[in-house]
Parts: sequence; structure tokens; C-alpha cells
Amino acid sequence: MEVESKLIKQGAEARVFQTEFCGKKAIAKERFKKPYRLPCLDEKLTQRRVVKEARCMAKCSKAGINTPTLYLIDNVNHVIYMEFIEGITVKEYLRNNQDNKEYKDKIKVLMKEIGKILAKMHCIDIIHGDLTTSNMILRDDNTVVLIDFGLGYTSHLIEDKAVDLYVLERAFLSTHHNSGELFTVVLKTYLEYAGDLGQQVNKKFEEVRLRGRKRSMAG
Ligand code: AMP
Repeated sequence: MEVESKLIKQGAEARVFQTEFCGKKAIAKERFKKPYRLPCLDEKLTQRRVVKEARCMAKCSKAGINTPTLYLIDNVNHVIYMEFIEGITVKEYLRNNQDNKEYKDKIKVLMKEIGKILAKMHCIDIIHGDLTTSNMILRDDNTVVLIDFGLGYTSHLIEDKAVDLYVLERAFLSTHHNSGELFTVVLKTYLEYAGDLGQQVNKKFEEVRLRGRKRSMAG
């Protein structure tokens, strides 16, 4: 029986389909060839990227961080099949509810949850690489699920962790009003949960911020 697939995102590196896997609603993420690269090199790099993405998800999942369950890695066609997460992105959730006073406490709890997840992730040396509120799904059971490790990698470097947080801060600033307040809760919780690592990342984070400010002033 043919399984129907619906394209939900066409990115620069990959296509994302909603599909079915063994009768379950699933996501298929297919990386495509880069025509400007030597074919044998392209094949190797694409395969490596697929493995890296899956490895980040598996490591997070093992550490108790919610990520979609991996169903299958097809590294002939460069496709990762994973669980479809039912819910809405944190971006949509904030946009829909941020102006509603009744949601103030709920949103604070959500920001704390994000800080806790990121601390856990950095403690196991996973760098997400593209932290945005679109890459976090608020699942129907109210838990946050991290998605899209397409730029993810393993690193113990404090700088990489600080930049990961800076990317998220920039995403907050460009997408949400009151973002300063929201991100402060994320960062504060991150620091609480990341222990000594948190102090080091925070120091570096200030430097990264300063660099960013200088760069934007320079035009
Ligand atoms: P990505 O390129 O991995 O960020 O995926 C693009 C979009 O597909 C995301 O912004 C989500 O809306 C959706 N998506 C990706 N993975 C999942 C998933 N596991 N469950 C539900 N939706 C997903």
C-alpha cells in the first residue's frame, strides 16, 4: 500500500514531509544533494550530517530530554523518520497567548521548562545550533519537545554553549514582544540547573552579547 506524504517544509538543506511509519503519524526529513559539490564528497557529507542529527536526538532522549522518537534512519536516501509531535510551536503559543493576563503564570512555567531543558542538553555537551521558539513544540500533554537538530553537534566548549543561548536570545528578540522578560526567565533557570557549567557559560554569554552589539553598531 502506498503511504501518502505531504510536504510541510522545503528548506535549504532538507525537505520535511508529514507521512506515516508502520501505521503511525510520522515526519520524514530528507536531506538532498548539493549539485555544486563533488558527488562522492557530497554523499559522505550528507550521510555524516544525517547521522549527526540522529545522534543528537538519541543522546538527548537518553538524557531525558523530550525529542521525537527516532523510527528509522535511511542513509541510502538520507531520510530520518521520526515521531510526529502533536501540539503547537512555542512561537505560536506565545503569539496566541502572550497578551492574555491569564496565561502569565503558564508562560513563566513554560520559560522555566525551556531553561531546564537547555541546561540538561548543554550538560551532556549537545549544541542544538538553531534554537528558536519554532523549534520547540508544546505537546498536547504540556511538555516541551525539542525538534530540528539539523545543525546540532557535540561540543564541550563553553563558547559553543554561549553562542547556542545567544541564538535563542536573538530569536526571542526578533519574534516576541516582552522578549527580554521571557528570555531572562529562561536564562535564570538555565543557570540554576547548569551548576558550575552555567556560571562559565554565563560569563562567555556576556562576551558573545557584547561582540554582537559591537558588530551591529559597526553596521
Ligand atoms: P525542521 O526543518 O526539522 O525544523 O521542520 C520543519 C517544520 O516541520 C517544523 O517547524 C515543524 O512545524 C514541523 N516538524 C518537524 N519535525 C516535527 C515533528 N517531529 N513533529 C511535528 N512537527 C514537526
